Amino acid sequence: MLITVIGGGAAGLMAATVAAWNGAKVRIIERKGKLAKKLLASSNGRGNFSNLDTKETHYYSNNLPFVKKVLDIFGVVQTLSVFEGLGIMVKEKGTKLFPYTEKSKDIVTNFIYELEKHNVEVVLNFQVNQIIKDREKFLIKGQHRVFQSDKVIVATGGNSSPQYGSNGIIFPTLQDLGHSIVELRPGLVPLKVRPHIDKDVAGSKLEGNIFLIDQNGEIVSKIYTGEILFKEDDVLSGIPILELSNYVHEYLEQNTPLFLKIVPFPQYSHRSLVDFLVKKIRSKPERPIKLLLVSIIEERLIPYFLPKIGFENLEAPVNSLDDKDIEMLADNLKDWNFEVVGTTSWKDSQVSLGGINTTEIDPYTLESTIIPDLFFAGEIMDVAGESGGYNLQWSWSTGYLAGNSASSE
Ligand SMILES: Cc1cc2nc3c(=O)[nH]c(=O)nc-3n(C[C@H](O)[C@H](O)[C@H](O)COP(=O)(O)OP(=O)(O)OC[C@H]3O[C@@H](n4cnc5c(N)ncnc54)[C@H](O)[C@@H]3O)c2cc1C
Repeated sequence: MLITVIGGGAAGLMAATVAAWNGAKVRIIERKGKLAKKLLASSNGRGNFSNLDTKETHYYSNNLPFVKKVLDIFGVVQTLSVFEGLGIMVKEKGTKLFPYTEKSKDIVTNFIYELEKHNVEVVLNFQVNQIIKDREKFLIKGQHRVFQSDKVIVATGGNSSPQYGSNGIIFPTLQDLGHSIVELRPGLVPLKVRPHIDKDVAGSKLEGNIFLIDQNGEIVSKIYTGEILFKEDDVLSGIPILELSNYVHEYLEQNTPLFLKIVPFPQYSHRSLVDFLVKKIRSKPERPIKLLLVSIIEERLIPYFLPKIGFENLEAPVNSLDDKDIEMLADNLKDWNFEVVGTTSWKDSQVSLGGINTTEIDPYTLESTIIPDLFFAGEIMDVAGESGGYNLQWSWSTGYLAGNSASSE
């Protein structure tokens, strides 16, 4: 029996390895000249491959019960056992899991060794454009060549970061086979905001609690804590922003106003911030206003922030500020607001929201409920995780189950 895995990313590597371990004849077809380019780039090449807190609440999907079932059958514990078998030593950082060396290439090297050892055929630089079921066999077509296979595992990813290979070209042929697609949108992607962010501010960072509110002031997202990065072209990035990007599409598509709130210094109450500012003013009353916030926010942010809240003369001494000014300054320091007007492009996106409708996939086997012997693994499905290792965990879980069930007679 020949199993063809289309897509040599994390999910494809896992599926092919497991199927080969089970004694199946396995072929991987990959459109790029190299396997696992996205995995190699993950967490800046450090390979945050899973998270000890993996559960369905860290995922976005129209079908979270499906996600839960898959993770219950094959979750972190089972993944760690496979990784141990591969010889990958693991490091925990909080709940995040990394290869001990913090190099994702070390994960890839171990998988490639298994593929070679089990004579898995690897076809590189071949893009599959069409999959046809011809009686008992699949015909897998690209330019100038057709492969035959008994079973097919589709692990081609979604549309995110196409520079690493996943370009969504496979979706039309899967629709022709009868599958439906939940519309794809960029996830874990920087946000475009108003008001304008001055060029000089690009590169500055601000730490705090960050969340989204709707036009009625209701919080409509989880609250994330971390560092925001100000970028050129009115773009905000950083992990909390990427997390929040997963919420914004329905508001943007319906033209419903959506706002981003940053609350810096969560450990400082308004009162303690006022006390700190008053002490600082009293200790050096002649100090210019522009120096009052040094060490509180990044220096480059000061000439951007102060005029926005009405302080025009930044050279004026701090003792020109009255109690009302200081109260207002503290209020605004703890309350930064932006309107969300868009996301940047697929190129910056770390994951695809949407994909193959999971109601058409068996969660125990990852087999299509429409086309027998067709399986799915990884990001191609309508399942996307938060950042922190959840997306790669999804690739390992589904890759294992698809590879294992495809190779079981
Ligand atoms: C910059 C970045 C950082 C990330 N960091 C993390 C992180 O720290 N932790 C985490 O958990 N996740 C992270 N992710 C997400 C994670 O890398 C992906 O969710 C995961 O790699 C998806 O694996 P996959 O195998 O499903 O798809 P992919 O990795 O996209 O692999 C699909 C493969 O299929 C090939 N392919 C596509 N179409 C065809 C075709 N028609 N014919 C042949 N081959 C085809 C592609 O070339 C590609 O190699 C990150 C993503 C990015 C972009």
